[in-house]
Amino acid sequence: MCETNYNENMNFSKLKNMYIFRIKLKNITPIHVGGNSEDSVTSKNPIMRVSENENPFIPGSTLKGLMRSASERLAHLFFDREPCYLDGDKACAPHKNVKIEEKIKEIEQKEDRKISEEKIYNLYYDELCPICRTYGGGSIASKVKFEHIVFPANTLTNIREGIQIDRDTGTVKGNRFYTYEYILPNYEFEMVITAENMTEENLKVLALALAQLQGNQIRIGGMLARGLGQIEFISGTVKIYDFSKKENKNAIIQTLLGKDTPTENKTLTEFLEKVL
Ligand SMILES: [Zn+2]
Repeated sequence: MCETNYNENMNFSKLKNMYIFRIKLKNITPIHVGGNSEDSVTSKNPIMRVSENENPFIPGSTLKGLMRSASERLAHLFFDREPCYLDGDKACAPHKNVKIEEKIKEIEQKEDRKISEEKIYNLYYDELCPICRTYGGGSIASKVKFEHIVFPANTLTNIREGIQIDRDTGTVKGNRFYTYEYILPNYEFEMVITAENMTEENLKVLALALAQLQGNQIRIGGMLARGLGQIEFISGTVKIYDFSKKENKNAIIQTLLGKDTPTENKTLTEFLEKVL
């Protein structure tokens, strides 16, 4: 997913809460996560690896893109505002909003001092669609981070042959044979998502995607029309850390000292039932 507007610098530094999701999944059909999109098949389409001939992996950015799309699909259930889908000119771009710049100047003149970073952040944040508020967009950083999924070095892969069909005529395009590599089925892997400073709205946005993951509605990678990328949910948990209350200070210090002390532990089902 292209995120050219994404600026890591624009983030709000006060940590109020943190959620760590661990979701165990299994691929029930082969997975192909390659560097090329399905529409740009070349003659050889290897899967992505950490480095050449090493562990197959699925980049966190790929997972984030999948989950973002899943949230977009159902956002209308909760929000009046249409997602921007990061679609060209329609994409949220509060940093290009002259009104906000004028508002900042106005406040600074009135208060006769520089407006705080936090206030600037909030002015920009308020302009975003619910999806961008959660997954990032328009110079506001994502609140959710996806770790790469790295498969074991001995993961079995195979190579399949395909023929590129011309979509207009339905005939084989010239001599367009190609091959693609895939990970064999039945590998268990874990999706780890860390979310920070989540509001109720952010939690709903993320939960919309997590529910589809739990319901086996999300597929991973390319060659989906050939049945690849089907995954099965095995289990999911979430650790919740509430840093907003002073009475949680001791638990936070314990966590910082290496003795993990979440404010709450939930199964993914419990979390989804509460949020949705
Ligand atoms: Zn948006």
